[in-house]
This record gives sequence, C-alpha cells and structure tokens, in this order.
Amino acid sequence: MSNLHTLLVFALVAAASFTPVHLLEFCQSSDHSCHSPDKTASDAGKSRWNMNVSNLIQDLDLFSMSCKKLIEAFPVDEVDGNFVRIVKNCIFSKSIPTPLKGPLRLAAVSKDVIEGILNLDMAVTQSDEFLHYASGGRLLPGSVPLAHRYGGHQFGYWAGQLGDGRAHSLGQYTNRKGEVWELQLKGSGKTPYSRSGDGRAVIRSSVREFLCSEAMHFLGVPTSRAASLILSDEPVMRDQFYDGNAKTERGAVVLRLAKSWFRIGSVEILAQSGEIDLLRKLLNFVIEEHFSSINSDDPDKYLVFYSTVVNETAHLIAQWMSVGFAHGVCNTDNFSLLSVTIDYGPFGFMDSYNPNFVPNTSDDEGRYSIGAQANVGLFNLEKLLTALSPVLSKTQQKEAKIILKGYVNIYQMRIHQLFKAKLGLLGEKEDDDYLIAFLLKMMEDTQSDFTMTFRQLSEVSAQQLHNKNFTQTWALEDLSSHELLSDWLSMYLLRLSGQQNYSDLDRQDRMKNVNPRYVLRNWMAESAIRKAEINDFSEVELLHHILSFPFVTQETAEEAGYAARPPVWAERLKVSCSS
Ligand code: AMP
Ligand code: MG
Repeated sequence: MSNLHTLLVFALVAAASFTPVHLLEFCQSSDHSCHSPDKTASDAGKSRWNMNVSNLIQDLDLFSMSCKKLIEAFPVDEVDGNFVRIVKNCIFSKSIPTPLKGPLRLAAVSKDVIEGILNLDMAVTQSDEFLHYASGGRLLPGSVPLAHRYGGHQFGYWAGQLGDGRAHSLGQYTNRKGEVWELQLKGSGKTPYSRSGDGRAVIRSSVREFLCSEAMHFLGVPTSRAASLILSDEPVMRDQFYDGNAKTERGAVVLRLAKSWFRIGSVEILAQSGEIDLLRKLLNFVIEEHFSSINSDDPDKYLVFYSTVVNETAHLIAQWMSVGFAHGVCNTDNFSLLSVTIDYGPFGFMDSYNPNFVPNTSDDEGRYSIGAQANVGLFNLEKLLTALSPVLSKTQQKEAKIILKGYVNIYQMRIHQLFKAKLGLLGEKEDDDYLIAFLLKMMEDTQSDFTMTFRQLSEVSAQQLHNKNFTQTWALEDLSSHELLSDWLSMYLLRLSGQQNYSDLDRQDRMKNVNPRYVLRNWMAESAIRKAEINDFSEVELLHHILSFPFVTQETAEEAGYAARPPVWAERLKVSCSS
C-alpha cells in the first residue's frame, strides 16, 4: 500500500475542467459529432478549418507584425553586433538572423497555425518568399529581430546568463481573434547569447520540435506551436552522443509561436544581477499583457501572479503525466511563465509504464525522469519565488511560501481528476485513488504500454473486461499476465456499475476522448527523421496529420503501425541534448 501511495505522489494527474483543445474546437464548430469518437479524421479536419479562405492574407508583404510593444517596454542592449558577450540592463538584444544556405525546402507546414493563428492563405507557404521569411533570409514587414536575455538553473545549479543562443523573436502578430502571438525562428544563427554554439539546429531536433509541439496542442496540453519547418543543405557539425564521433548534419529552422516566450529564467537573471527596476518592469509587462485578471494597481499583484504560475505549472505537469510525456530538460530556462510547454529537446513519450523513464540519455542521474517532473516543478517554482523576493514585502514573501506549499495539493487534485477521466470514472468514491494507483502498479510490474493500456480499456466493453477477452488488445494482454488483474477488474467493474445513468458506450466514448490512440513515440519520430534527412517528407506529413487527431482511429495510422506494439529497434533509440 505504501508503494501505491508513492505512485500517487508522482504519477497521477487531474484537471479542474479538463476539456482537450481539440474537443473545444469541435464543439465550437457546432458539429454534433463532437462526442462521437468514431467520426473520421477528415470530417473533423473540415470542421476545424472551416473558415472563409478568401479572407486570408494572400501576399506576405501585407502580413504585418510589430515589435513596438517589446522594444518600447524595455531598454534594449546598447551594444550592437552578434558577438558573444555578457549582457546587462536589458531584456533583449537586437540580432539579425543568419540566412540558411540554400537550397531551402519546406518540409512541413501547419495549416492550423498558418490559417487559424496567422490568418495566412496556405498558398503563400508554397512561394520562395515564404522559404526566406520563415528561415531568416528576409524579414517580415514590421519585424525587428530580437534575442532574449535570460538565465537559469540547469540540472539544479545556477548557470548564469543563457539567453536565446539560436532563436530570434521576430515580433508580435495580432490576429483576427485579437490574440497576440510572438513569432520566433529557431536555428536562425548566432546571437550575443550563443556561447560556444553555432546558432544552428539540425534536422532531427527540428522535426521533433515541429511534430511534438503540434501533437501536444491536439492532445490538449498547453504548448508553443509550430508554423513551418524548413530544411537546408547547410552543413552543421554535431557530436550527437558526445562520444567523439562528430559528423556533418544539415541545418533546419522552425518558425514557432507562443503568446510569450518569457521563462522563469527571464526573471531570475534580473534578480541575480540586482536589476530590480527592470525586474519590476518585466513583471508589470507580463502581468498586463498576459494575466488580464490581475489588476495592475493591486499591491499584491506579484503575489497573485506567483500564485497563478504555481497553479498553472502544477496543472501543466499533471497534463504531461496524463499523456506520458517527459520533457527531458526541466531547467528553469525551459519553464514558461505562462505555463505552456516550451523548448522541445530530448523529450519522450513513455512506451512501457515506468516512473523512472528518462528520455534524455545525457541525464545520467535521471534528474528529469518522468516521475520526478512534479518535484522538479516545485524546485523551479521555488527558484521563481527567490527571484521575485526583491519585489515582495516580508509579509508577501511569507504568503508566497504558503502558496508554494499548496502546489502539491493542486497537482494531486489535478492528477486525480485526469486519471479518473482516463478510467471513465464519474463522481467521487473513496477508493478511486487506490483503483488508479493499483492499475499503475500492475502496469509497472508487467511493463504494459502506458498509452495503449488506457486506450484499450476505453475500446473494450465491460463484458469483454469481465471475460478478460483481450485477444485483439495487445497492451491489455500484457497487463493480463499480472496475478492481481482479476482483483482489479472486479473493483473497476463494480465502480463502473455504480454509474447507472450512463451506458457502457458512454463510458467508452468519454474515455476515448481523453485517452489518445496515437502519440509521437520516439521510433515514429525517428522513422520520419530518417526519411526527412533524404528529403522524403512523407512521414513527417503523415505523422503531422495523424497526430492532429490523436483520439480518432485512422486507417493510415493503423497501416503504419502507430498503435501497434513498438518495434524492437525502438528500445535501442537514444535521444541526447545535442540538437
Ligand atoms: P537548450 O538546451 O536548447 O534549452 O539551450 C540552452 C542554451 O544553449 C540556450 O541559450 C540556447 O540558445 C543555447 N544553445 C543550445 N544550442 C545552441 C547552438 N547550437 N548554438 C547556439 N546556442 C545554443
Ligand atoms: Mg531552452
């Protein structure tokens, strides 16, 4: 039992009003098949992208963005030039992207982002102009490219100045819904923050960031987005596994978007350097722009801000856990102040359930194992509190510590809700946590697949569960080798039978809407990367499409084996920090 308790601390998740983004979108389109998991992906696509195409911007020269707000709000680095240096007393440095050497190829583009966020006609992405705009060769109208100065705690220690070493913020775009998005290029060349790096990103890491950020969005997890992925022939040297075998890879650039790219490290660098006026300025800006419920005259505004970040970070990590996602590098410089997933590096979706799953082979001590993420979130929030302390009164600092103490409860509550939803449980019963932890413990013992165990529990009927008829369900078949499965099934079926007003089909539908059938497993990304490296983008495109409908069974995905047992070679795959 104590074992089960431990599991609950790190492994469970829950959401106050857990409605994945994709469901909201389906619902808003007044599509009554909103609740039908059997609807095809192409039908769903039509409703999601049902907009008046003729209204979209058809000429990139008419696309207008602005850097005014960012530049006017803060002092900009007084020193000019892209040479590496310690930067003080500013938030941004002006830095011009280094154009990728051609020929350039558009490997992937997100229609959802291009049309739905940027209001651009997809046709523009097929032009040469777009290739240049989206890879740093030409600047979009209104753009003043900036590199952001931030610091961070890396693997537990203060690492000093980090900053955008290979990313350029192009400015903000206000779309037709009134949303403000900050556009960034990643892999677009050196900046004052490049340290010893070359400012580039390679194909493999760029494909992974493009696919995963889009996939996370459609899983309903708060995340940055990706608009396009452009590959070049520019040679980039990388020692992928830090074993002395450096080889030439090719450079790539992702055009990515977030409402804001400010991180915990953005605040930390100012506090650490004693730049307290600027710290206040940054916080005021972030609050005004992104925390509309906070009154800027409120004397407790920084405290309320902190409380919101604590709450949202707990929710975000709980959502990661509910889809089996390990970020891989949970340093404070990779934790967004808006609590969205950012900076995709050596992340991984876990195959077999294992709380000790570490996606990053460079993380020798497993500091950022999947099961440690909740604790690491707490560590990072402590660092944020330290950085906020200079602008908090003694009383407020005390209150902030109490707020931080509430983090564990918020996380547990969210885990509880999310995993209850994953099991189709309605209402509250005393033994629900036990039921969830019991299942996870059996999954760990039998190394059952995390994604497919929950998915297949959603797909089988109560009758099949009762009969243990798992012939078509490989993950449940693995689970059935556990000697206690019958006990668990009895408990589970008894719990379900108490939900008299809902049919078993209702339960299955509910569960299928929260338990994805497809996630970006490492082997899937690897297979797409190998093809992309020889300029075959078919699997990137296929994965991008399929992962836009992760809850809908799709024929092409089934043919590709994306819901099948991962291939044996997947076990040998390694992902490192090198990118
Ligand atoms: P990351 O591991 O991507 O979160 O990067 C940590 C820090 O190192 C950030 O400041 C990055 O911008 C910088 N960095 C990582 N790779 C490179 C590179 N190839 N060139 C320049 N800076 C880099
Ligand atoms: Mg980073």
